[in-house]
Amino acid sequence: MAGKEALNTGDGDKKSVSRKNKGLSLSRSSIVFAVITTAAVIAFIVLSLFVSETYRKIERLNDESFEAQNCVIEFLNACDYLTNAARSFVITGESHFLDEYMTEVKETKSREKALERLAELTGSTGNGSAYNFLNSAYMLSLTLAEREYLVLKLVVESSDTPLLYNVPSEIENIQLNEYYRNMSAEERRESAGKLLYDAYYLDYKDQINKNANICDERILESFSKLIDENNSTMHLLLRTQLILAFIVLILNILYVIFIRSQVRRPLSRIVSSIKRNEYITAAGASEMRFLSDVYNDILKENIRSREELSYEAAHDGLTGLFNRASYDAYISRIDQDTTALMLIDIDKFKDINDVYGHQTGDRVLRKTADMLVKSFRPIDIVCRIGGDEFAVIIRNVSSSMSRTLVDKIDHLNQMLLSPDDGLPAVSVSAGVAFSDKFEKNELPKNADIALYNVKKAGRCGCRVAEPAEA
Ligand code: GH3
Ligand code: MG
Repeated sequence: MAGKEALNTGDGDKKSVSRKNKGLSLSRSSIVFAVITTAAVIAFIVLSLFVSETYRKIERLNDESFEAQNCVIEFLNACDYLTNAARSFVITGESHFLDEYMTEVKETKSREKALERLAELTGSTGNGSAYNFLNSAYMLSLTLAEREYLVLKLVVESSDTPLLYNVPSEIENIQLNEYYRNMSAEERRESAGKLLYDAYYLDYKDQINKNANICDERILESFSKLIDENNSTMHLLLRTQLILAFIVLILNILYVIFIRSQVRRPLSRIVSSIKRNEYITAAGASEMRFLSDVYNDILKENIRSREELSYEAAHDGLTGLFNRASYDAYISRIDQDTTALMLIDIDKFKDINDVYGHQTGDRVLRKTADMLVKSFRPIDIVCRIGGDEFAVIIRNVSSSMSRTLVDKIDHLNQMLLSPDDGLPAVSVSAGVAFSDKFEKNELPKNADIALYNVKKAGRCGCRVAEPAEA
């Protein structure tokens, strides 16, 4: 149809504009992604805190293990210190060795402190515990102390000259049995020396060492167990952290893919469709589809209004026929020798208006237009080119069909002159020019001459323009 603007409607044209296609919601997907990622990151941070806490615990356990082992060493050192002080006192008789011995026993109390600290560090004092073994060693060392006290007493009592130092009450109060009382000073000192080196004494020392060694082993065992447990916990935490990091990475990749497929690609498709003035094929996230649908609706409405406007520009509002502008366009485009132009004018139409009124005149115009359309073929173009003037561009026709066209107008006049619709009787005059007889641009002029001749001859009829009359 002329005047109808051809719009490139693309493949989206075939698809109806609907909002059924939901697709994934961009906002909802973003929220889900954000929630999962945030949860994973929070879990990662919490795990990091646990990892650092566990690491600190392992460090602390290592320190405590070291300190507990030091307790054992300090304990043994204290035992040896006492033995050495007692032996030195026996050999030299110098009072500062006695002082050192007593200071260690009564004030410094290294063995007791080591034992106490070990109890704090290991937290267990039950049977088979490290503390238990060191405590046994301590008990043995107390038994040995009784002998050492006797030794100290024997040395004190072996002096021939008056003592120049105070003897501690613990030593002073020891009562020597008869065996020792009967000994000479020299014999007492000798016996004292033997008491610190005999099998009994050495066996006790050995027992003390053995118990301390077992205590050391238990310390190592219990701390190693705790450290191993914490190491496994830390490995588990680190592995979980790794998995979480991997999940976050995968989520990010998936989100990038999602944005690419659901937003970026559909968006560039939307942009190119808009540039090409095409309908958009809805794709991607639901928001993209919504945008596409809204745009398609607007485009559809736009096309419809443009079609309406172009129809109005090409047609006559009263009769619906092509108007003068369309007629001019068609007539200038005639390119075949098988065309005829017929001009038609209603006879004495002013009188109809004058007698029956303008409205009735309009109805007569519409009726005439309808009858003209019915009288000709669909391929012929019927136009209203003036007030009561019509033109028909007849295609695929030659002058040999003149009679047929004249008969058509005669038949039309018969109908118009005997109306059964209450409208006044009218007739038309028509002139027709064939392109096989005239130049195409001469058709309007010659059709008009033929029409003029009909009017002159009394109207109501049709004449074929002949070159001789031109
Ligand atoms: P003739 O036989 O010589 O053609 O006489 P006529 O009275 O028909 O004269 P003419 O063709 O010149 O007159 C056309 C008239 O048509 C003039 C005008 O009042 C009337 N007319 C033009 N447009 C319209 C319209 O849209 N509606 C109506 N009702 N009348 C119109
Ligand atoms: Mg007229």
